[in-house]
Amino acid sequence: MGCAMHNEEGPVMPEPWRPPVRCPQCNGVQTRFLTLRYEVSVYECETCGLQFEVEEEGS
Ligand SMILES: [Zn+2]
Repeated sequence: MGCAMHNEEGPVMPEPWRPPVRCPQCNGVQTRFLTLRYEVSVYECETCGLQFEVEEEGS
């Protein structure tokens, strides 16, 4: 194996998945990561529909 160059999925996605975070509005955990905007991660709550941003921790 090791066919690392075979990538037809478009741009490189360095962090394709992030653990759910708690919704600041309804306090639910049914949230999903949407995108990385500047230096904050944008999540959407599937319970109340709120989109919210979470600041990234420094590396
Ligand atoms: Zn919510």
